Amino acid sequence: MAYQVDEEALRARLSPLAFQVLRGAATERPGTGEHLDEERPGTYSCAACGQELFDASSKFDAGCGWPSFFENKPGAVIEDVDYNLGYPRTEIRCSRCDSHLGHVFPDAPQTPTGMRYCMNSVALDFAPQEAPSN
Ligand SMILES: [Zn+2]
Repeated sequence: MAYQVDEEALRARLSPLAFQVLRGAATERPGTGEHLDEERPGTYSCAACGQELFDASSKFDAGCGWPSFFENKPGAVIEDVDYNLGYPRTEIRCSRCDSHLGHVFPDAPQTPTGMRYCMNSVALDFAPQEAPSN
């Protein structure tokens, strides 16, 4: 059975901005996201449903003002084309709960895949890898 999103529970749990991004495909202002400068190893997951989306090892500094990754975890996202700005962009959504996460652009030749998954910080929860305890 498909994962069902409880919109009202999400609205109550998330910040207004996170809700607008995840469920209304809004975009946070560049340079404002809490994960932008995050460099620790760990895992990024969907802020709506908790599905793991990106490993921190695929994060890179794209200089665009949003946290960027060159590769998602297998099967974690779905792609769709949107024309919200008048030209086609490839939208990225969580494959489990269908929440909007950001867009992907083929403009990162400095990475192993050449792709830039341009994500909204508020759409992601970050779990740092636990430090080894001696
Ligand atoms: Zn999700």
